[in-house]
Amino acid sequence: MDVKNEIIELTNRLKKYSTAYYDSDKPLISDFEYDSLMRKLVDLENKYPEYKLPDSPTSKVGGSASKLFNPVTHTVKMESLQDAFSYDELYAFENRVKEFTDNIEFSFEPKIDGLSVSLEYQNGSLVTASTRGDGSVGEDVTANVLTIKSIPKTIDFKDKLEVRGEVYMSRAEFLKLIERQENNGEKTAKNPRNAAAGSLRQKNSEITKRRNLSCYCFNIQQIDNMEFTTHTDSLDFLKKLGFPVVPFYKKVNGIAQAIKEIENLGNTRENLDCDIDGAVLKVNDLALRQTMGSTVKCPRWAIAYKYPPEEKVTRLNTISVNVGRTGAITPVAEFSPILLAGTTVSRAVLHNQDFIAEKGIKIGDDIIVRKAGEIIPEVVGLKQTYDSSVPFKMPEFCPSCGSPLYKEEDEAVLRCLNTDCPAQNVRHIIHFASRDALDIEGLGPAMVELLVKNNLISQICDIYYLTADKIEALERMGKKSADNLIKAIENSKNSDFYRLIYGLGIRHIGNKAAKIVCDNFTNIDLLMAAKKEDFENIDGFGSVMAESLYDFLHLPQTAVLIDKLKGIGLNMNNLSAQNRGDKLKGLTFVLTGTLPTLTRPQASEIIEQNGGKTSSSVSKNTNYVLAGEEAGSKLTKAQSLGVKIISEKEFLEMIK
Ligand code: NAD
Repeated sequence: MDVKNEIIELTNRLKKYSTAYYDSDKPLISDFEYDSLMRKLVDLENKYPEYKLPDSPTSKVGGSASKLFNPVTHTVKMESLQDAFSYDELYAFENRVKEFTDNIEFSFEPKIDGLSVSLEYQNGSLVTASTRGDGSVGEDVTANVLTIKSIPKTIDFKDKLEVRGEVYMSRAEFLKLIERQENNGEKTAKNPRNAAAGSLRQKNSEITKRRNLSCYCFNIQQIDNMEFTTHTDSLDFLKKLGFPVVPFYKKVNGIAQAIKEIENLGNTRENLDCDIDGAVLKVNDLALRQTMGSTVKCPRWAIAYKYPPEEKVTRLNTISVNVGRTGAITPVAEFSPILLAGTTVSRAVLHNQDFIAEKGIKIGDDIIVRKAGEIIPEVVGLKQTYDSSVPFKMPEFCPSCGSPLYKEEDEAVLRCLNTDCPAQNVRHIIHFASRDALDIEGLGPAMVELLVKNNLISQICDIYYLTADKIEALERMGKKSADNLIKAIENSKNSDFYRLIYGLGIRHIGNKAAKIVCDNFTNIDLLMAAKKEDFENIDGFGSVMAESLYDFLHLPQTAVLIDKLKGIGLNMNNLSAQNRGDKLKGLTFVLTGTLPTLTRPQASEIIEQNGGKTSSSVSKNTNYVLAGEEAGSKLTKAQSLGVKIISEKEFLEMIK
C-alpha cells in the first residue's frame, strides 16, 4: 500500500475505534493496540504532512457530545495529553521545557483510567457537571454526577470554581458489576474505564447511582478571586475544600526523579482502588504553563507516560479443554493465580494446538501472561521450560460426551459434532437465554449451570417446563427470584422471531444475520421450506452462511426442537415485519408498568417500526401512555394531564 492510502486507511480505522470507544463506550480493540496505531499515524503524518487528512484523529480531542444529553460549552477547553511510551520521550519533553527554564519542577500524578468531567461550583454549590465531549462541547451529566458520593455537592468557597476530575469505577465495584451481569446473562463490561463511562452516560440517574462511581480531581480549570503560584498549591487547596484529589501527587525535580516515581507507582499500582493507565507529569509553575501554551489538542506543559501492558510470570499447571456452544474444543491454560491489573487471574484461552505449538509451551513451564487494557488475560509466551515439562496434545474424543473430534478443512479448531453433547447443550441454553437472544433475565450462566447440576434442565426446551417450586427449592433461591424467573421465561415466548433464530445458535448466523433472515422469511414455515439457493440469494449472505443455515434447519433434531418450541407457544412469526408501517406516525408513547406479553424493548420496537416515537416522561405532548401492571407515577401524571391511557391489547389493536 502506498503512504497516502496507508494514512487514509489508518485514519478511518482509528476514527471507527474512537467512535466505538468514546461515543458507545464499547471499545473494539485494546488501548495498547489503539495507542500503537495512533503512534504509527502520528509518525506517518509527521513524515508526510501533505497527506494528513483534515479530520485526522491526531488533532482531535476525544469523541463527540451525544444528543442524549444537553450540550455544555466549556469555557476552558478540556484538552487531552501528549503521551510517552519510553523514558527517552520523557527526556525529550524535559528538553522542550528547558527551552523556557533551567529550574524544572513537575507535579507527578497517577493517570486515572476513567472519563473526564468538569465540575462547576457557584455560591458554594455544584451547579453543572459535564463530560469532555470533543473538548469544546460536552454533555450535561449533572443529575448523574450528583449521585457520586465522593464529589462534594457544597463547598466552603462562594466564588466561581471549575474543577476537572476523572470519574472512575473502583475495581471492587467493577467485579461486582460483572458478576451481576454474568448472573443476568448480560454482556459483561470489558473494563472499569468503559463501565464507568457507560454508567455515567445513562439517561436514568438511578442506574448511575447503583453503579457506585467515584472521582479523583486533578485540576482547577478556573477560579475567581484566588491566585496560585503552582499547580500542587492548587491541589492542596482543593483537598482542603473536601475534594477527592488524585492520590500520591507530589513535586519532582526533573525527569530522572520523575522516572523513580513512575517506577515506584508502576510497582505498587496494584494497591490502588482503581486502574491507572499511566502517570502524568505537569510543569508545576502556573505562569510558565501560560507561556508554553497548547497545541490543537494538548497542553505543551504536560505529558502522560503510558505503562506497557502489565505482564507476569506464572507456572502453567495444566491445560484443560473447554467445549463451546458450537462444539469447538478450546484448550485453556490453568496457571497459578496472579494479580494482574487489579484482578486475580488463573486461566487464559490458548485458542488451538497451533497456537500452543507456536508459543512452544508445555505443561509445567513458566509462562508470561498479560492483560492488554482488557479484562481478558492472554498468554504472551514462554519464559522458562523444564526437563519435567510435558507437551500437550489435544484430545481425540470430546471430554464431555466422548464422541470423536473432527477438524474441518482450513480450520485450526477441533470440533465435537454430537448435537446432544451435554457441554454444548449447557452453552446452547446460556446462549438461548442471553440478552441478544431470548433475553431471559435471571437465566445467566451461573443459573443455567445450577439448574443443569440439579438435573432440572438439560436442553433448551426444558426451561419452559420449570416451575417456581422447583427453582425455589434450589440453594440461595427465594420465592421472589423464582417467580421472576418463571415470569421472564414466560415472557420470552413472545420474543421477536429473529431473536429465536439467533438464540438457536446456528453457526455463522449472528444477531444481524438472524434479523436479515427473518426479514426475508417472515415465519418458521417459510423458513423451513426455503432452499439453499434462496438463502444464497439474500443480500449480504455468503455461501458459508447460507449452507450453515440450511444444514442446521434440515437436521432431524432441529425439526424436533422447532416442533417442541411451537407446541410450547413460542412466537415463530416475524411480528416486526408484519407490523411494519406508518400506523403510529407522529404519535408519542410513554411506557409504564409491566405489560402482559410484550417486554418494553419489544413494545418500543413495534412503536418505532410503525413510525411512532417513545419518550421516557409524560408531558402534554404525549399521545398515549401504554400502561401495564404496577404502573407508577407516569400513570398518575397521565391522568392529571388527561393523556389517553391504553392497555397492551388496545395497543396491539392499533397496529393490527
Ligand atoms: P488520554 O486518556 O491519554 O489523556 C487525557 C485524559 O487523561 C484526560 O481527559 C483526563 O481526564 C485524564 N486524566 C486522568 N488522570 C489525570 C491526571 N492526573 N491529570 C490529567 N489528566 C488526567 O487521552 P484521551 O485523548 O482522552 O484518550 C486516549 C486514550 O484513550 C488512550 O489511552 C487510548 O488508548 C484510549 N482509547 C482507546 C480506544 C480503543 O479502541 N481501545 C479508542 C480511543 C481511545
